[in-house]
Amino acid sequence: MSMYVTDFMAWIKAKNPAEPEFHQAVQEVVESVELVIDKHPEYRRAKIMERIAEPERVIMFRVPWTDDQGEVHVNRGFRIEMNSAIGPYKGGLRLHPSVNLGILKFLAYEQVFKNSLTTLPMGGGKGGSDFDPKGKSDEEVSRFCTSFMLELYRHIGPNTDVPAGDIGVGGREIGYLFGTYKKIRNEFTGVLTGKGLNWGGSLIRPEATGYGAVYFAAEMLATRGETLEGKTCLVSGSGNVAQFTVQKILDLGGKAVTLSDSAGYIYDPAGIDREKLTFAMNLKNIRRGRIKEYADKFTSASYFPIDPNKDSNPLWDHKAQCSFPSATQNEINAKDAANLVKNGVYVISEGANMPTTPDGVDIFLRNKVLYGPGKAANAGGVSTSGLEMSQNSMRYSWSREEVDSKLHGIMKKIHKSCVDASEAYGAAGNYVVGANIAGFLKVANAMMDQGIYG
Ligand code: NAP
Repeated sequence: MSMYVTDFMAWIKAKNPAEPEFHQAVQEVVESVELVIDKHPEYRRAKIMERIAEPERVIMFRVPWTDDQGEVHVNRGFRIEMNSAIGPYKGGLRLHPSVNLGILKFLAYEQVFKNSLTTLPMGGGKGGSDFDPKGKSDEEVSRFCTSFMLELYRHIGPNTDVPAGDIGVGGREIGYLFGTYKKIRNEFTGVLTGKGLNWGGSLIRPEATGYGAVYFAAEMLATRGETLEGKTCLVSGSGNVAQFTVQKILDLGGKAVTLSDSAGYIYDPAGIDREKLTFAMNLKNIRRGRIKEYADKFTSASYFPIDPNKDSNPLWDHKAQCSFPSATQNEINAKDAANLVKNGVYVISEGANMPTTPDGVDIFLRNKVLYGPGKAANAGGVSTSGLEMSQNSMRYSWSREEVDSKLHGIMKKIHKSCVDASEAYGAAGNYVVGANIAGFLKVANAMMDQGIYG
């Protein structure tokens, strides 16, 4: 590690103690953009790196709610308004018991560069709560969302900050949040994305992150004259991103053989076809059950529990060519990365945010894996949120084909930006460096133009 990176990270860690995911996300970017900083002393003088790593605003608040038995609970709500240099804050809300300030700061920081890569005018933000929607009734989720919005509404708006979904926040939660916002503000505006189709949502928004991750993989494969046709793919997660990743893999002639949740995973060597995918979507989105039921229903599949205390995840230890981590951060460690490479995987397209640990990323890069980091590969979701914002502003809806074709075009542009930036800075084939530099330059230049108080 260079002196610059060492000193910078010492400063970040002292200022943001006990936030390991945030440190990890910042370090990856600082290592990538050091070359740019060396070429542009004006960025260093203007303390661009320091300013990008400091949120413009952090909002933390109490979220009290009552369960169906009338018992009162208290959760903590957050919104990190990280950077607005190129547009209103934009980024999802996560509801998961693991949520804390450090995790949301890492996600908001990543979002700044991701949103810049999309070519759309969106700043970076993220929010959520340590509330666990699992096992809660619709009424309990509704009461929580109403309480959450009773505070959040004063900080957001269609030109200020536009939240969306993330882990634990899908169409149901966006509906409850939007309804409360509309009631308090007495206005119908595009303040959230991921809305229902009848009330301002965009076609393809639910599909967009998964579709985008597969489009990105297809672009990476095309650099070697290959396609997804006939490729076996490992997919983790079974939520929004995982489901539409499997759907697009099927569209492009590939075969997905795994899905998971936090308790375990299914391995279906016959492939997850459209009928099985429909079952999994119904299981997860309507019945809100566990992925184990997939193996109870289809005899071609086996179920394996996952022990988070083990030093590797067996999901990543199957023969395949492609992998789409689509669950959560740091779900692939060095041992998992080595297993993937050993089993013949040479394409990784990250639907999840920061799913690979830094030593895992090193293994991919050393082995010349086509490795698409989350901030590029999963940018299709926020891109389509950007398209939803445009449609809301115009009070107009594009067709499914129009949105899908715009999404596909954006993913191609993101891929090209990564390739061009990595080549320009002498790191051809390294999508981590490419994504970080391309995302950084646009934000840094906007911050330079707007002065240090901007
Ligand atoms: P989701 O619909 O809530 O699904 C999340 C999936 O991941 C579930 O199967 C969940 O299993 C599993 N999971 C969550 N936390 C886990 C943990 N700590 N350990 C193991 N498994 C875990 O969420 P999603 O929207 O698909 O998001 C998945 C990933 O994609 C996240 O990293 C998110 O930040 C990223 N992402 C999402 C979008 C988007 O548009 N939704 C956009 C960009 C990036 P359980 O049901 O057991 O919890």
